[in-house]
Amino acid sequence: MREFAYLRAADVAEAVELAGPQGRYLAGGTNLFDLMREEVERPERVVDISRLPLSAIEPLPGGGLRLGALARNAHVAADDRVRRRYPVLARALLKGASPQLRNRATVGGNLLQRTRCRYFYDLTAACNKREPGAGCDALGGFNRTHAILGASPNCVAVHPSDMCVALAALDATVNLTGPDGERSVPVTGFHLLPGGTPHIETVLRSGELITSVDLPPERPWHGDYVKVRDRASYAFALVSLAVLLDVRHGRTVAARIALGGVAHKPWRAYSAEEQLVGAAADEAAFERAAEAAVAEARPLDHNAFKAELARRLVRRTLVELAGRS
Ligand code: SF4
Repeated sequence: MREFAYLRAADVAEAVELAGPQGRYLAGGTNLFDLMREEVERPERVVDISRLPLSAIEPLPGGGLRLGALARNAHVAADDRVRRRYPVLARALLKGASPQLRNRATVGGNLLQRTRCRYFYDLTAACNKREPGAGCDALGGFNRTHAILGASPNCVAVHPSDMCVALAALDATVNLTGPDGERSVPVTGFHLLPGGTPHIETVLRSGELITSVDLPPERPWHGDYVKVRDRASYAFALVSLAVLLDVRHGRTVAARIALGGVAHKPWRAYSAEEQLVGAAADEAAFERAAEAAVAEARPLDHNAFKAELARRLVRRTLVELAGRS
């Protein structure tokens, strides 16, 4: 490992000042330490924010809930308000990583975790995300776990988070503080598709720090988070799915569908949602929505199964949720 400056911030303002444009913030360290050990990331300064008072889970005036950026994944999943009002988020968190990692990993760090593309971590492989312009060995390599939606010829990596898929379905908001002050960004616009700049993964500006995530007021819908992976625990999603569904008198009045493991960001299936809202809540409508969810899929050599898996997962989950309404 290379030498770097380790700095500890006393408050948010000092953290932003210490980090400067090139620093990296250290919270749980569950991804950053791996990246530094493998020399995928080589920050010259690391600002430890783990002692800042950003771990509270607090009610918002309008009825939502604010998750501090340093709230541990395990604490959020166990919080009674989250379990009762946002079960899709609690389930997503409990399906991520291992109990040990969930005890360390934070809300902010989960948002910023980087892809697990094997070529990204292999310094002998060509990777545009690690080294812009170098090429992408995943395109002609083993790409079974890679993207089927929203990819580009420059990068076909997927975002690894479970939590972020649930946050996308919930239409959460990410709160930021940086050198130019505070701002808020919808979580659905926080992560970027790769396009021609796969090394730029979020809309975070230089030196900005995630301070919290706001969940909107709960709504009367049924929701679930389902995850298909190669083994029953401690594995990233091949395909995951967060669904929120509000069915009244046999019709769907509101629906949110977000997919994980299929794109460079949590993928909101807006066209599938449009198929559902206002239609009869029956199997034909659910099948149409499931087909719409993957209509734009462009599989690679080894991951065509993901489109069919996602389609079946959407359909099955909608049927199950409608049955609970
Ligand atoms: Fe790098 Fe993206 Fe290609 Fe993986 S898919 S090797 S992260 S450019």
